[in-house]
Amino acid sequence: MSTVDWFGCAVCTVFLRGCPVRCTYCHNREIQDGEDYREVEEVVEMIRSSRMLVSGVVFSGGEPTQQKEPLLMLTAASREMGLKVGIQTNGVFPETLEALLHEGLIDRVALDLKARWERYDNLLKKKFTRNIRRSLTLCRTAYQERALQEFEIVVTLFRGYEDEVKYIAGELEGETIVLQQGVEGTLPPLTSAEMRQIADRLGREVKIRTREEGEVVYDGRRDRRIPGKR
Ligand code: SF4
Repeated sequence: MSTVDWFGCAVCTVFLRGCPVRCTYCHNREIQDGEDYREVEEVVEMIRSSRMLVSGVVFSGGEPTQQKEPLLMLTAASREMGLKVGIQTNGVFPETLEALLHEGLIDRVALDLKARWERYDNLLKKKFTRNIRRSLTLCRTAYQERALQEFEIVVTLFRGYEDEVKYIAGELEGETIVLQQGVEGTLPPLTSAEMRQIADRLGREVKIRTREEGEVVYDGRRDRRIPGKR
């Protein structure tokens, strides 16, 4: 159970194993690969057992969209329980997102963007850029058509790579951007104040997510703590 995976909503978070991207800062490196197969029904029952305490489910990972058919079944079952459904994704599997959107099975997508397009394949050392761009377009269109209630772009910030978000933001069409405090090894994380300075350079409202403050909406002149958050 989680109060940080969907701000403003208590959720049950399901982590699906496996991710073709290998971020060194991954918060779940132990499930980037390996095997631990479960029946879909077993997971459905775990979600059902938390039904009285949550109003939504977030599918995370690893990369949840890598397992298309199980994810379709799990999201459909969650819907039947009356739960809102969110996905945290790196966008590598647009066909799964397309199916979820087509079936009307998700309310929210948090899409990680890690670099400007021209650097993406180099950074990931795999040719995923086209897929990720397609995922962005699918979610953008669904959000504009109100088939998707919430859509945000998550950019994880690290000391020494503060400028990349400026280029990422320049490639977007006004989508909500979340600046997330990255934590990796012994590298000191950016402070909330430093993240506000980065946001100032974007010249637009963003959300800033840090361990110290939780999530705030920041537009350069004022910032607002999300109600009920740390
Ligand atoms: S894309 Fe996400 S889940 Fe996959 S390795 Fe990177 S941080 Fe971990």
